[in-house]
Amino acid sequence: MAISARSDLAADLRSVVQGEVRFDSYSRALYSQDASIYSMEPAGVVLPKSVEDTQAVLEICNRNGVKVLSRGGGTGLSGQTVQEGAVVIDYTKYMHDVLEINVEEQWVRTQPGITLTELNRQLRPHGLMFTPDPSTASRATVGGAMGNNSCGAHSIIYGKTVDHVLGQDVVLSDGGIANFENVSGAALEAKLRVGGLEGDIYRTVRDVASRAAPLVEANFPKVLRRVGGYNLDLVNEPGGLNLAQLMVGSEGTLAAVTSARLNLVKIPEFSGLAVLHFK
Ligand SMILES: Cc1cc2nc3c(=O)[nH]c(=O)nc-3n(C[C@H](O)[C@H](O)[C@H](O)COP(=O)(O)OP(=O)(O)OC[C@H]3O[C@@H](n4cnc5c(N)ncnc54)[C@H](O)[C@@H]3O)c2cc1C
Repeated sequence: MAISARSDLAADLRSVVQGEVRFDSYSRALYSQDASIYSMEPAGVVLPKSVEDTQAVLEICNRNGVKVLSRGGGTGLSGQTVQEGAVVIDYTKYMHDVLEINVEEQWVRTQPGITLTELNRQLRPHGLMFTPDPSTASRATVGGAMGNNSCGAHSIIYGKTVDHVLGQDVVLSDGGIANFENVSGAALEAKLRVGGLEGDIYRTVRDVASRAAPLVEANFPKVLRRVGGYNLDLVNEPGGLNLAQLMVGSEGTLAAVTSARLNLVKIPEFSGLAVLHFK
């Protein structure tokens, strides 16, 4: 990106964003790397303080034809959080609050920038936990776990991240907001009739998922920890459509998540370690 275009973009963003807009060479160098082997310099970085900040980034970048890349802890191994010329949105500094804990129904609503370890620290007094546990949990965020459909050692018992995401609040590519969760019946019919980008998404996803269903059934590997590709096998709930299931594992390519409602399980009363020796 030309230097003048970059400074115009930074000025546009600074005029509306309440959080930090960092387009200096030091910040661009910092965010040109993650845990992968790749190195690609972004146009700049935004640390949003709110949903409105995130909307502003998506809207301004969309208008200027600039790529946008959400980032959590940057511990993904495949270069998901580095991109040449993109504006990186880093949620870890300001958007990391737990918004609501429902102990009775066993769910939590949280912002995306909280680490998995910190989320579970806040849930512990309630005897509850969010189960995905990659070994990077002290740095990895809820946003990143959803982006990668993270697993971890205990996913054999509890399942993948996608099995525990109940809903998401997202910012779409045009800066509009939407709530994605399982919708069915009259609510789904209403979504399918809505105008604008959100309605287009519902209509397109239902069409693509229905047409792809036989291929998905025949070809998607039936293994416990399949996390590659879009979850076209899960999006069609019986009688409904759940776009949050499609978002999980989409590696930030579909929308920016600003909060999520997550299923929790009771912390086991006892835990132990068994070491098996093989001859
Ligand atoms: C040593 C090591 C061990 C690991 N072990 C495991 C393991 O056991 N199991 C496992 O599953 N993974 C593992 N990983 C991979 C990685 O740590 C996890 O997938 C982790 O959950 C990613 O979280 P993060 O916050 O770092 O995500 P990031 O790397 O920052 O992002 C991951 C993806 O999520 C997207 N994203 C982030 N926030 C948002 C948002 N708000 N909205 C939309 N998209 C968003 C990003 O664009 C990106 O595509 C390991 C990595 C390392 C380096």
